[in-house]
Amino acid sequence: MAVSLTVLASGSRGNTALVSSSTTRLLVDAGISCRETFKRMRALGDDPRALSAILITHEHSDHVYGLAMLARKLSIPVYISGATHQAWARALRDENGELPQIERLELFCAGRKFQIGDIDVAPFTIPHDAADPVGFTFRAEGVKVGFATDLGYIPASVRDHLRSCDVLVMESNHDVEMLRVGPYPWSVKQRVMSRVGHLSNDALADFFSNDYDGCAAYVVLAHLSEQNNHPDLARGAAEKALGPRRTLLRNRVLLAEQMEPLQPLQL
Ligand SMILES: [Zn+2]
Ligand SMILES: [Zn+2]
Repeated sequence: MAVSLTVLASGSRGNTALVSSSTTRLLVDAGISCRETFKRMRALGDDPRALSAILITHEHSDHVYGLAMLARKLSIPVYISGATHQAWARALRDENGELPQIERLELFCAGRKFQIGDIDVAPFTIPHDAADPVGFTFRAEGVKVGFATDLGYIPASVRDHLRSCDVLVMESNHDVEMLRVGPYPWSVKQRVMSRVGHLSNDALADFFSNDYDGCAAYVVLAHLSEQNNHPDLARGAAEKALGPRRTLLRNRVLLAEQMEPLQPLQL
C-alpha cells in the first residue's frame, strides 16, 4: 500500500484526517467524538486499533473534542506542542483543579521536524488565535502531504513549507461577502476576517494564482463555514485561480465535508 490521505471530517464542528504510509497511520487532529471517528474509519475499512499516533494542530475544540477519549481508548502517543497541551489541559481542568492526563505525551516544537515510523513530520507556525497553532507537512515514500487550515493569512514561511506537495489540504473558510452580510455578531466577523482568523475563498484563490507551484495531484478545500460559505463558491474560486493547471492528473479540486468522510486519496 502507498501513502494515502483521508479527511474524516472538516468544518467548524470538527476536524480529523488520516495520513497513512505502508507502516504508519497518523490521525491529524481529533475534532469529532471518539465514537464518530471509529465509525467513520470502520466505514472506510480502516481499523482504529492500527493507528500509530495522534497529532494536534491547536487547542480549539473543533480540533481536540475527541482527544482525551481517543488517547485513553487507543493508548497511542499524542504529539502536541507544549503551549497547545497546556492550553488544552487548562480548558479541561475539572472542578477539583485536576488537569486531564495523556498517558503517552510527545511534545514537539513548531519548526522542528520529527519522525513517526516511516513518516517525516514538519510542524510549522500558522497565524491563528490559539496558543501555538501549527500546520503540518508529512513525507513518506517520496510523497509529500501539506496541511494548512485555521490561518488568518498565508505568510511567506507557510508558502515555503507548502512547496512541492503531492496533496494540499487548504482552508477555504468563508466567502467574504456572505460573512459580511451574514448572521454573526460584528465581533465574531472581525475575528474571522482578522490576520489570526480564518482564510477566505479569495485569500486562498490569491495563493493559488500568485504563489502556488501547481505540483499537487489533489487540492482539498477544507474547514468550509456552513454559515458563511457555499461549496460552489469555494470550488468556483479555487478552480478559477488554478485555471489551466487543472488537468486529469494535477490540481483536482475536492471539497472536504463535515458530515461525510472524503474517499481516501491514494498517492
Ligand atoms: Zn478549526
Ligand atoms: Zn481554530
